[in-house]
Amino acid sequence: MSDDETIFEKIVAGEIPARSVYETDAVFAFLDANPLAPGHTLVVPKEAYERVGEMPADVASDVFAAVHRLTPKVEDAVDADAVTVGVNDGKAAGQEVPHVHVHLVPRFEGDGGGPIHAVAG
Ligand code: IMP
Repeated sequence: MSDDETIFEKIVAGEIPARSVYETDAVFAFLDANPLAPGHTLVVPKEAYERVGEMPADVASDVFAAVHRLTPKVEDAVDADAVTVGVNDGKAAGQEVPHVHVHLVPRFEGDGGGPIHAVAG
């Protein structure tokens, strides 16, 4: 493994620990280390792509299939009222880890978090 691996590649490779939520051949989902709400989950492709548009369509499809499956489960798991599903795609959008990741942020009535532009991650 090269030194320019992202932290999420290390998580996917099992080199650093994460709290696993879901896994397929192509996708890994785990709890965010600095959650914006209980149950805040990140869904990543196992192959490393920095930007959404860099993923081949089949990988993007696998990622969104996992998002589709997990969103209601995450909501139920923490008894939330809704979920903000968001991607910070590029530095200017607030992307800190250069490996595509979809945030699933459980939301609660009156949590004051606002709509998607409030998800900085
Ligand atoms: P971004 O700002 O959209 O790139 O979000 C990066 C997210 O990764 C943030 O919500 C961080 O809390 C989260 N994060 C960074 N390092 C780790 C880690 O080692 N485990 C789990 N989540 C992490």
